[in-house]
Amino acid sequence: MDPSNQPASSPSVTVGAAAIGARAGTGAKPAKPLRNPCNLCQSVRAILKRPKTGQQLCKECFFHVFETEIHNTIVDNKLFKRGDRIAIGASGGKDSTVLAYVMKLLNDRYDYGLDLVLLSIDEGITGYRDDSLETVKRNRDQYQIPLLIVSYKDLYGWSMDDIVKEIGRKNNCTFCGVFRRQALDRGAIMLNVDHIVTGHNADDIAETVLMNILRGDLPRLQRCTSIITNDTSEDSSGIETSKILRSKPFKYTYEKEIVMYAYFKKLDYFSTECIYSPNAYRGHARIFLKDLEAVRRTTIVDIIHSGEALSASVQANESTKLPTMSTCTRCGYISSNELCKACLLLEGLNKGLPQLGIGHTTKIRRMHEQANLALGLSSPASLSGGSTPVGDGASDVEVKVVTHIKDLGRLKNMPTLDSVC
Ligand SMILES: [Zn+2]
Ligand SMILES: [Zn+2]
Repeated sequence: MDPSNQPASSPSVTVGAAAIGARAGTGAKPAKPLRNPCNLCQSVRAILKRPKTGQQLCKECFFHVFETEIHNTIVDNKLFKRGDRIAIGASGGKDSTVLAYVMKLLNDRYDYGLDLVLLSIDEGITGYRDDSLETVKRNRDQYQIPLLIVSYKDLYGWSMDDIVKEIGRKNNCTFCGVFRRQALDRGAIMLNVDHIVTGHNADDIAETVLMNILRGDLPRLQRCTSIITNDTSEDSSGIETSKILRSKPFKYTYEKEIVMYAYFKKLDYFSTECIYSPNAYRGHARIFLKDLEAVRRTTIVDIIHSGEALSASVQANESTKLPTMSTCTRCGYISSNELCKACLLLEGLNKGLPQLGIGHTTKIRRMHEQANLALGLSSPASLSGGSTPVGDGASDVEVKVVTHIKDLGRLKNMPTLDSVC
């Protein structure tokens, strides 16, 4: 049984209480009754109210239950096996900083036998990512975990600053999201890891469940509730599968508790939001969720469980029709279409027609074909579905950028850790 399924009477808390009781010496009675004692050890004054359960806890007991629940999530879901090399997706924010700290702590405490590395994506956002990457570099030194930083500029020839200059602030999250998922995979391949852990917490997942329900997007609902996945894409034309596994050890960990943990542990993290347009729809889902949580603290975990139950019934009712997987004919990245979504977006950018990359993929493909006709170019095979070699009708700029990605995709001359950090 997953202990996180029942936060109010979680077995991990019981285990924690027993362990702490033994540690503190249950036999020793305090001389005077303590005012507001910790609900678990009873021997120290409580200094916080646990957001997930409402328990009043001392600092040490909070650390213990917080860490033990994550350990139980990892063990119950068999996320890793001994000898696995795991990349921790690190942004310098609170979630991934706490994740790096706790992964190292649990790996040492329970002897998981994992080889941990930090993987950061540099989107090229001045005043935001450059500062947060400095935090990740400090974390690398503090936790003694090697770090690889991969940048959009190197991978795609465009930084987010360049893209925003070109397309303005509307829709830039589309580019960033598509590029980041692929960049993480490419970084993982460079690091020779087959598993990335990310700091997505219970609040993030509950928000995504809500958004997918509100949009009626059941296939995505299924993906967002899985603790471990191997798909990467938000491509509306199909699911893009990657060989790299992704998992969320914080699936049942409340955001408020992550903030509390970082605060009491005095962890070094970066706390500014991205300076480019925030996702307005997610913002509404977040506010709605916080309002519900204020009335009932189990709301977050309840929504995740509803998402899990819904996606299970969707799966049972659906003839599981997965798209046939192949690779992008241009960059070699795994894709269910001839061109992956990143290459579609890049084509729009490199043609000076960035709007070509935004919207539903089938619509985009049609627009590309029309644009090619208007420019007097023959429609490339990769867009029209014909069999002309890729690159026909493509401009010099495209070929240059594309070759660069293709080379990376072929995994030749991979940079070593030392040469990149
Ligand atoms: Zn205590
Ligand atoms: Zn591609």
